Amino acid sequence: MDKMKTATLCVQAGWQPKKGEPRALPIYQSTTFKYDNSEQMARLFDLEDSGYFYTRLQNPTNDAVAAKIAALEGGVAAILTSSGQAATFYAVFNICEAGDHFIASSSIYGGTYNLFGVTMKKMGIDCTFIDPDQPDEVIEQAFRPNTKCVFGETISNPGGHVFDIERFARLSHKHGVPLIVDNTFATPVNCRPFEWGADIVTHSTTKYMDGHACAVGGCIVDSGHFDWKAQADKFPGLCQPDESYHGLTYAERFGEMAYITKATAQLMRDLGSTPSPQNAFLTGLGLETLHLRMAQHCKNAQTVAEYLEQHPRVAWVSYAGLKSDKYHALAEKYLPQGGCGVIAFGLKGSRDEAIRFMDHLKMIAIVTHVADSRTCVLHPASHTHRQLSDEQLREAGVAPDLIRLSVGIEDSEDIIADIAQALEA
Ligand SMILES: *Cc1c(COP(=O)(O)O)cnc(C)c1O
Repeated sequence: MDKMKTATLCVQAGWQPKKGEPRALPIYQSTTFKYDNSEQMARLFDLEDSGYFYTRLQNPTNDAVAAKIAALEGGVAAILTSSGQAATFYAVFNICEAGDHFIASSSIYGGTYNLFGVTMKKMGIDCTFIDPDQPDEVIEQAFRPNTKCVFGETISNPGGHVFDIERFARLSHKHGVPLIVDNTFATPVNCRPFEWGADIVTHSTTKYMDGHACAVGGCIVDSGHFDWKAQADKFPGLCQPDESYHGLTYAERFGEMAYITKATAQLMRDLGSTPSPQNAFLTGLGLETLHLRMAQHCKNAQTVAEYLEQHPRVAWVSYAGLKSDKYHALAEKYLPQGGCGVIAFGLKGSRDEAIRFMDHLKMIAIVTHVADSRTCVLHPASHTHRQLSDEQLREAGVAPDLIRLSVGIEDSEDIIADIAQALEA
């Protein structure tokens, strides 16, 4: 199954019912699971056997959806989380502890910027933000002896910058650390970061994967490629005995499954950002049409971006599908079938122009969300990124006049008609 094409994996991967079992993925709406004797249960707690015992750790519905995403990304294992934020936090916290350091691209989602720069700092984990467009020599200066990973977004939210995954994989590996890529906007339909050397992928499944704005969720996928034991001193959490599991060593016992097993057995056990099986089910349902929706999002967004680019009231457009875009060459390399449906642009005139434009839209709604089937719009400087200063905004690749337009899968003529009337008004 794992060798099949993306469209087939979207539809078929993850849940393969046996004789007489439900065709659709069942929602295992149960906190707990039954065993016949005490010994069976004890073996599960010792990680001697794999099996379900409590939904905070694992649930069959959640696991089937995680397996579908792992197959789509070409990874060895995956874990669902209750949100994209939880996925990002766990992905880094699974290998960083107090006193450690990591490096992140500054072109990332505002929530991630805050998590790394403020909240994780309070936990004693230091993050250096780098401008990903700087040359290698400048980026390499950010590495320290206690650096444990590098993080970037395939296509940044909201700026639409394309991350040079292969280059950052090379730099990360040169310094003995894994590259983590947030692949939310591209989705594995349009880019599979493992094929370019990334080691771990994260998702906010809330966006295109669910695709219908119904369920907040996240996912972490491991490629299984990173050799933790080759850097055993750097990664004691994976390479030294875990006292909370009777001295078990993840990298030894679980091989290429070590990273996800540790995230499940330790982080889910202790921090508990588990999705509800109901939400996992909705995400799984969304994934069945991901390949169809992504193609339509990209087609519509390309048409809308080209319309905006030639409009006299529009000051600038950032969409990597445009030939004029700064990231077009990277998009041709990493996103040959298209990137995503999200366009960033600015209007001529003052910052208030953006607010006036948005208030005149009729079909296109102002929502915090992005990347679902309905076209929507947001002004990050007034909304999602409110807490950032103008300088931090610019660092995060968010111009104060930036309008984020998430192009849906309606007819592009209707989307453009709504934009046209609002630009006139
Ligand atoms: C939305 C988003 C997140 C956070 O995900 P939630 O599901 O909202 O917690 C992380 N990364 C990117 C790129 C996002 O767009």
